Amino acid sequence: MQTHEINNRFIEHFRGRGHTVVPSASLILDDPTLLFVNAGMVQFKPYFLGEAPAPYPRATSIQKCVRTGDIDEVGKTTRHNTFFQMAGNFSFGDYFKEGAMDYAWDLITRSQSEGGYGMDPGRLWVTVFENDAEAAGLWRQVTGISPERIQARDAKDNYWDMGVPGPGGPCSEIYYDRGPKYGREGGPIVDEDRYIEIWNLVFMQDIRGELAPKEGHPPIGELPTKNIDTGMGVERVACLLQGVENVYETDLVRPVIAKAEELSGRRYGANHEDDVRFRVIADHARSGVMLVGDGVTPGNEARGYVLRRLLRRIIRSTRLLGVQEPVLGEFSKVVRDAMAPSYPELVTEFDRIDSVMRNEEDAFLATLTAGSKIFDMAVADTKRAGGKQLAGAKAFQLHDTYGFPIDLTLEMASEQGLTVDEQGFRNLMAEQRRRAKEDAKSRKTGHGDLSTYRTLLDQHGTTDFIGYTDLRSHSR
Ligand code: ATP
Ligand code: MG
Ligand code: MG
Ligand code: MG
Repeated sequence: MQTHEINNRFIEHFRGRGHTVVPSASLILDDPTLLFVNAGMVQFKPYFLGEAPAPYPRATSIQKCVRTGDIDEVGKTTRHNTFFQMAGNFSFGDYFKEGAMDYAWDLITRSQSEGGYGMDPGRLWVTVFENDAEAAGLWRQVTGISPERIQARDAKDNYWDMGVPGPGGPCSEIYYDRGPKYGREGGPIVDEDRYIEIWNLVFMQDIRGELAPKEGHPPIGELPTKNIDTGMGVERVACLLQGVENVYETDLVRPVIAKAEELSGRRYGANHEDDVRFRVIADHARSGVMLVGDGVTPGNEARGYVLRRLLRRIIRSTRLLGVQEPVLGEFSKVVRDAMAPSYPELVTEFDRIDSVMRNEEDAFLATLTAGSKIFDMAVADTKRAGGKQLAGAKAFQLHDTYGFPIDLTLEMASEQGLTVDEQGFRNLMAEQRRRAKEDAKSRKTGHGDLSTYRTLLDQHGTTDFIGYTDLRSHSR
């Protein structure tokens, strides 16, 4: 079943059960606690908190999500994307645990000819929060699942919150058993690569404070109503229903791998190292396009830095596959074609997306060319001296003068069998920040001499900052 159809069936299932269909929010919402939208519930947060009345008692959506915290898993586990789609259903003080369990189970186990996903109930497992005795009983009652396939877990796994103060609650997750080929028996507690988490049902009832319930600190209050917030991983369901090995091989991601195969002349599936690169490229190309599509531009801070890191990792990984030519424009087109049926803005915005991509690639290739010489020399010197670690000062110089992010230096060093003195690097960065702060302070208090700037301004007038459109000459 294609991803498009998985989404359609989800939406139709919940529309038919009284849910208002709400479009995905942008990946960048005005929520100071979040860099990117990372779950379907984010746009509904004020309704859970009671800050605004919910315009509908029930809603459903397919939300674009970015989880940068999962970046190191990408390509290595079978199930983590940096960009993925979360299908969800939400109840604002309407139905609660029992309803959520019933709706979810019905959709995934109903036969495909009757509009469901047709999963074999004999392969499904569920987890419950250890302090939520009610949930285990309800699962048995609602679904008839055998008690051996209900596992209790602690707050670390089965208490959900946004990672910051806000709504939260105990949760229950549905897992699919892929069978002995994928790992050890015994349920999700034992092996999460064999038992794939597909759907999380959150019983949203608490207010989480500064301290995390996951770390044993109780919530600080109760929400005005008992709510439901669920998230089903669309790529994970696609992986299972399409019978492929991992989320990167699903219908909307795999075409980028095919493009990378074409450009490099290497074959996916030939060796593990290259395969990880292919998967990283496919995953990051999609996140990159979706982020630029929602208005993020590469930069040196916050969102822009995350985007920059993703794009640079694509370029580096493709180079490691032996490709020297610019590639981002090629991958963007493939992502656009795969994703446009669900996200038509990718077509209308494509010229802008494409030019952001190309500018960033030009800038990075220039950086790489300049910095790689210094890097290679540093590696040669270190090795000649019998060392195993690149000096912190070198990493700092690469960062400061050539715009090499530290993770790039780390990655390139490890390819050369070297480590990096990260602490030394960090100390120098801290030192630089301290100096910059002092400078700023002395300017504020009027100690700095600004007369030169004044004279320049008087002579030449102001200049326009063009870094947003012309990254080539301004960014590293
Ligand atoms: P995991 O334990 O596998 O990291 P999670 O518990 O962090 O997943 P939730 O926060 O419960 O995930 O998100 C709801 C659903 O979204 C998950 O059940 C899963 O199907 C999907 N999902 C979560 N993270 C990712 C990701 N990085 N890539 C693809 N799908 C994801
Ligand atoms: Mg996770
Ligand atoms: Mg989990
Ligand atoms: Mg979960």
